[in-house]
Amino acid sequence: MAIVVKGADVAGSIKEDIRVRITELEKNGKKPKLMMISVGDDPANASYERGILKVFGELGIETEKTVLDAGISQEGFDEAFTGVNEDSSITGILVFRPLPKPLSIEFAAKTIDPRKDIDCMGYYNQAALSMGRKDCYYPCTAEAVIRFLKYEKIDLAYKNVVVIGRSIVVGRPLVSMLISENATVTCCHTKTRDISDRISNADIVVTAAGSRALLKGEMLKNASPNLFCIDVGINMREDGKGICGDIDFETVEPLCEKITTVPGGVGSVTSTLLAEHVVRGAEQM
Ligand code: NAD
Repeated sequence: MAIVVKGADVAGSIKEDIRVRITELEKNGKKPKLMMISVGDDPANASYERGILKVFGELGIETEKTVLDAGISQEGFDEAFTGVNEDSSITGILVFRPLPKPLSIEFAAKTIDPRKDIDCMGYYNQAALSMGRKDCYYPCTAEAVIRFLKYEKIDLAYKNVVVIGRSIVVGRPLVSMLISENATVTCCHTKTRDISDRISNADIVVTAAGSRALLKGEMLKNASPNLFCIDVGINMREDGKGICGDIDFETVEPLCEKITTVPGGVGSVTSTLLAEHVVRGAEQM
């Protein structure tokens, strides 16, 4: 039976460190504060926001939300963003994306203060990440995957890692981060001919596709006996009762040494990393 690596355990170790850092900040009269910006009230953001408020409340980090009118103009959005960006009490900014059409994130991505860019939305942090720098902010979900591997003390040198998904928020940055950790990485996506073939010599598989039961046991026949499968996907369950990931847990789990679940996996670490980044923002101010 595979070891289920729990998000709560990984997040717990990060929270311990965050508490120490907040105490240090307080000694220096500094205070972390998150500003969330949303355009309209998209219910798709509600569960992410609930998770954020829970973690930040637990850690005693202040949060505020700016809700802009769904019909706001580009100039209006850019102006509101600039106000938040220039507010010295804010140490981290999270813009709920994607913005409703026809709004563009371009101006915000170009102008965001890199110290407040806690989810790697801006061009400075994105460029630094793809150059392999380790002193920039990483997108929280992709970083959560790396933290699972670190928590399990897995050295990625000489490891074959397959990432399924190539979006700019999860798959692509994760590929860069894994390469920086010395892994040998294969990225699969909707135009990959035979994913089973790509997985055949994997030590680690990360699913970040948003496709229920995408990874099945039958695809892992020749995989490593030490296989670790990490599920980033969030999908509605077939019966409509709650969420599930991209991994068909029943058939994949018996073939793994380690595995994560949805819920209870990557999601809980994502919001904790957001808190860590807001604290880091305060340290840099
Ligand atoms: P996205 O839709 O932007 O990208 C999905 C990627 O997966 C694409 O590159 C696509 O090519 C690939 N893909 C989709 N179906 C595939 C298939 N059948 N075979 C191979 N490749 C396939 O999504 P995203 O924003 O990258 O998010 C990916 C998943 O992760 C979603 O389920 C999302 O809800 C979830 N997510 C979870 C967290 C978290 O904190 N746990 C955070 C962000 C996103």
